Amino acid sequence: MKTIRLRDGKERSLQRRHPWVFEGSVARGGADAGETVRVESHAGQFLAWGAFSPQSMFRVRAWSFVEAERIDAAFFESRLRHAIALRGRLGIASDAMRLVHGEADGLPGLIVDRYGDVLCAQFLSAGAERWREVIADALCAITGLSHLYERSDASVRALEGLTPRTGWLRGGVAGQTPTELAITEHGWTLGVDLAQGHKTGYYLDQRENRRRFAELVRQLGCRSVLNCFCYTGGFSVAALAGGARKVVSVDSSAPALALARDNIRRNGFDDAACEFADADVNHWLRDALANGRTFDAIVLDPPKFAPTAAHAERAARAYKDINRLALKLLVPGGLLLTFSCSGGISADLFHKIVAGAGLDAGVNAAILQRLEASCDHPTTIEFPEGEYLKGLALLKV
Ligand code: SAH
Repeated sequence: MKTIRLRDGKERSLQRRHPWVFEGSVARGGADAGETVRVESHAGQFLAWGAFSPQSMFRVRAWSFVEAERIDAAFFESRLRHAIALRGRLGIASDAMRLVHGEADGLPGLIVDRYGDVLCAQFLSAGAERWREVIADALCAITGLSHLYERSDASVRALEGLTPRTGWLRGGVAGQTPTELAITEHGWTLGVDLAQGHKTGYYLDQRENRRRFAELVRQLGCRSVLNCFCYTGGFSVAALAGGARKVVSVDSSAPALALARDNIRRNGFDDAACEFADADVNHWLRDALANGRTFDAIVLDPPKFAPTAAHAERAARAYKDINRLALKLLVPGGLLLTFSCSGGISADLFHKIVAGAGLDAGVNAAILQRLEASCDHPTTIEFPEGEYLKGLALLKV
């Protein structure tokens, strides 16, 4: 077993069970990509077992902080069993959910989502990649499912020296087994495309917020709704389910919009009464304001503007701008659901940005609720960096 010795004073983060060892903390030692290493303090004290990643700024990601533990197939089976059992206890109102959420489930670099009877996984670190076959077998054995699709095409893989890979890892046959399927979320039927969709196909992290939106639309009697960055229309269906009469869905991806229209139709809503705009939200909001349009409710769920804190300043301006425009487009008493999924923007900072947007728009708003990712995307107390999605439900006063 190879050993990684840390620099003096760099042991504290692993001692607090934080799973990352940065490149600059390593005094000596090395291993192959994904190989299990023993990490020791400068004084030679055991700290963790982890996966070495020679090219990554995250030089080691810890698998375990228990010296007696062995990192083998049984270890992965046990971690996966635990993660999957947890989801079974959360009362999730959908047949689609995240089963494994990386660090939060003690499995850095591994994402596994379930869409009905099909699993979809992302192996995003050298360590997860190394154990890919073992993990695939364990996932099928534990869930009893035979079909596992791989979406290891996220850009972060390049930082680990890994090339993109997609396709059936278990069960399916390329070109024969369909990668389009339908899930049931809060009783709504939603089409998901595992191969072409974003991430593993769908934004499961917004599930509870879509339900909450439907409730608020109903409670507040919102008729006209604007869903910005709508993707496949999850919030649009939620709005219609909540009693909205007309929903405008805006996205810059034509395939996503086509699926949004399908999703509205397949739930029995009249897509002819809805509007679909293949447009840049920034421009669309400006035009809408110039044309004097107003809405009873607006959703802003943009992509990650700030992947890291280094991008925070530019991202803050972009968030502020769309929130300012949305607050102006709302009728008095209107509802705004606004989100940021940027790891580089804290909830605190996001609230300040939205407050700044309100000030610029000359609009005050009551915070109805602070929003976060669904419970199957947990943040743990040992790894607060895992928190990325934050949002606000605001009522324009
Ligand atoms: N709310 C969605 C997820 C949104 S993901 C859900 O609940 O499923 C972000 C979306 O923003 C993507 O569909 C992407 O195509 C779109 N997008 C990114 N930049 C955009 C822009 N400038 N204008 C319009 N859409 C954009």
